[in-house]
Amino acid sequence: MAKRTEPYIPGEQVSRQDSIKLNTNENPYPPSPAVITAISKEMERGLQLYPSPTANELCQKIGQVYGLAPEEVFVGNGSDEVLAFSFMAFFEPGKKIRFPSVTYSFYPVYAKLFDIPFEEIPLHEDFSVPIKRFYQSEGGVILPNPNAPTSLYKELDQIEAIIQNNPDQVVIIDEAYIDFASGSAIELVAKYDNLLVIQTTSKSRSLAGLRVGFALGNKTLIDALVRIKDSFNSYTLDRLALVGAKAALEDQVYFKKTTEMIIKTRQKTSDMLTTLGFNILPSQANFLFVTHATVPAEMIYGQLKEAGIIVRHFNKPPIDNYLRITIGTDEQMGKLVEKLKEII
Ligand SMILES: *Cc1c(COP(=O)(O)O)cnc(C)c1O
Repeated sequence: MAKRTEPYIPGEQVSRQDSIKLNTNENPYPPSPAVITAISKEMERGLQLYPSPTANELCQKIGQVYGLAPEEVFVGNGSDEVLAFSFMAFFEPGKKIRFPSVTYSFYPVYAKLFDIPFEEIPLHEDFSVPIKRFYQSEGGVILPNPNAPTSLYKELDQIEAIIQNNPDQVVIIDEAYIDFASGSAIELVAKYDNLLVIQTTSKSRSLAGLRVGFALGNKTLIDALVRIKDSFNSYTLDRLALVGAKAALEDQVYFKKTTEMIIKTRQKTSDMLTTLGFNILPSQANFLFVTHATVPAEMIYGQLKEAGIIVRHFNKPPIDNYLRITIGTDEQMGKLVEKLKEII
């Protein structure tokens, strides 16, 4: 058992009150005020009762927002849990799955935990995903779009080609950052019964602290996830999470406003960092993946940290000279740029 478990290491959570936290891709804006109202009401209603084991109302709301039936929606305690259940439900020992060599570092953790062999497909020199190398996989495919930590987005026709070329395997598209990009694979769910799209309320809906993720796919896939969930825990989402997430999904106006603000700040920050000599990958996420022409990433990381600005540095080739910087408010990014001017 010990050799199978090699836990994921999350980005650090800091205690310093004045620090600027740009290391775990949280949203700099609070959730919609409607979320707080819904949670307060639910608290008054009484936490002595178990929550709904089917999360039917939340599934219905998510389905309504994305044009799917509630039976095509699964919800879980963060998309991390939905991902873990999906590995168990759709991938099996003895059949190699594929994911990119540079990607979300939870995938190899789950694969090892569940004894699923995997093949890490090397990215192109420019960090883009080599689409054809994901065709005809033995055990299935998992791919984030946009990819993390590279921030790069793949056009939908390329994603569709991967799905078409794995007709007997499940293809999971992890869309944690899709709301900051230009097109979701959800529109393909009705067309392909081997596609599962996973999203989260942690990033674009400012609810990382509430832990609500969801999967969209045809009823057979969703049923398989429900069976796994019901073999662990009937109530993965508590009452506050259920009503809070539902309220967030109902407030599309607030969601669009804050998402657009982040996209604008992303552009501004990217322009400013370019003038400082950074090379920045064209991001379609709420973070930038950057490297500097002359100053090593590790040094920049350390000096920012001393100044109370936390970004993410992955000490692992080929990305060890890169930094992943979450997009904060304009004010936070201004402070970041000021500090970087001193360092460089
Ligand atoms: C943040 C992130 C997740 C996890 O999101 P939670 O819903 O907070 O568990 C999953 N996949 C990727 C690629 C992420 O960056």
